[in-house]
Amino acid sequence: MTDLYCVFGNPIAHSKSPFIHAAFARETGESVIYEARLAPVDGFAEAVRAFVAAGGRGANVTVPFKEEAFRMCAALTPRAKRAGAVNTLSFVDGQCCGDNTDGAGLVADIVDNLGFSPAGRRILLLGAGGAARGVVEPLLATRPATLVIANRSSDKAQLLADIFADLGPVRASTFADLAGNTFDLVINATSASLSGAALPLPAGLFAPASLAYDMMYGKGETPFLAQARMQGAGRCADGLGMLVGQAAEAFFVWRGVRPATAPVLAELRAALGG
Ligand code: NDP
Repeated sequence: MTDLYCVFGNPIAHSKSPFIHAAFARETGESVIYEARLAPVDGFAEAVRAFVAAGGRGANVTVPFKEEAFRMCAALTPRAKRAGAVNTLSFVDGQCCGDNTDGAGLVADIVDNLGFSPAGRRILLLGAGGAARGVVEPLLATRPATLVIANRSSDKAQLLADIFADLGPVRASTFADLAGNTFDLVINATSASLSGAALPLPAGLFAPASLAYDMMYGKGETPFLAQARMQGAGRCADGLGMLVGQAAEAFFVWRGVRPATAPVLAELRAALGG
């Protein structure tokens, strides 16, 4: 019997998730169909109910529904509870269970694909929106020397630091107060790259061995990675590997099988032309 899964979003036509999950199903031999479903902005809960009624076993959730998905779940994993957002739904006995695999996807990409070990290193996280909040716990679990969160609206960075303070050495900063600090890993979780806006990053943040990581991805170099390279970052990576990593973690949540990510990442990279 083939099990039905999907990703809900609005817009959703651009989603690479059906491609990724089809590749995982082929690779693992799991009998899975995975579709992209457009949910109306004010009709997410109804779309989920209809999907469950049609036999759906699980779903991914993307912009703009991750917080709404969080609120509608009857049960949440600890990492989803901390993240305040859900990107993976499992439907068990008519109940909606929520998880968040974004952070695991990011850490898997950084550690396994890029060979960077965050333990004992200085990490800077730029941004304090939904994506940033989802990755703080798994980043702290890698036991960095410090995790600094900097955001345009500094109160939001402080709020995140407060939420996760019991899990490790995390603190908030303004962009200006970053001056004089150097980081081993700088992760861009702002949406500034979407508009091409440059971030007000002081000189000296990057050392030649520093890794600059942009959660955004696309054809060619992102604006943040261009800025990081010009400010001296020796290594740069975009978020395509995170996208594949969060999908692999969701596949594992649903099927109990962990697919290899390298082949599908290579295929996606080739399709993007980069
Ligand atoms: P949110 O809208 O929740 O948060 C946006 C963040 O960006 C806020 O911290 C905001 O600051 C900041 N920001 C926006 N514009 C600027 C600017 N011009 N200068 C400085 N800061 C700015 O978005 P998400 O957290 O959901 O997404 C962030 C990024 O992460 C997106 O590019 C998204 O595509 C990417 N992403 C990638 C994933 C992957 O798998 N690769 C998964 C999830 C997200 P402020 O609080 O001051 O407004």
